Amino acid sequence: MVTEAPSKPGKEELTSRAARVRLLVFDVDGVLTDGGLYYGAQGELMKRFDVKDGHALVMARLSGLPAAVLTARTSSIVEVRGRELGLAAVLQGRRDKGAALEELLQQLGVSPEACAYMGDDHNDLAPLSRVGLAACPADAVPEVRQEVHFVTQSPGGRGAARELVELCLKASGRWDDAVGLMRGADGRGAQRVEQTPYSR
Ligand SMILES: [Mg+2]
Repeated sequence: MVTEAPSKPGKEELTSRAARVRLLVFDVDGVLTDGGLYYGAQGELMKRFDVKDGHALVMARLSGLPAAVLTARTSSIVEVRGRELGLAAVLQGRRDKGAALEELLQQLGVSPEACAYMGDDHNDLAPLSRVGLAACPADAVPEVRQEVHFVTQSPGGRGAARELVELCLKASGRWDDAVGLMRGADGRGAQRVEQTPYSR
């Protein structure tokens, strides 16, 4: 049995890593979803995303902290969800996630130190080892929990992504403004969600 790493970064180091983050990258299955894959005769039919995670990703984007997803699987469901959330990139069908992450960072002009990555399984270890802030949901596999700087209290698809957003926005002093923006009585936040362009 693999045990938890004895020394996770302290609050101060974690905050300083989180304050440097300019891009959030998420695995999909088991991170933005609970890992459930709903199948019918034609293949995958549904995934379950969490509305509070989605809300947090929109908050992050409106606060100047964009997010992207990187997954080994391919599904039109992820395209739809990515568009809805205004993600900066949706990379699917990428089995070598380490290489895919490097490409993405180059494309977007973000340094690895300024990237946070959240993954839950062995194929996330490569990207996790490259970034300034490595994170995983509470129910990630033990080898991943051992490697990362930040293990969320919430499991995948049930608030893990939101915890990472909150950590980064609080560390960079943007959380209160982000909350204010989302509760704006004029619906400004909601309008901007609809209008944001989407790029792959
Ligand atoms: Mg996964």
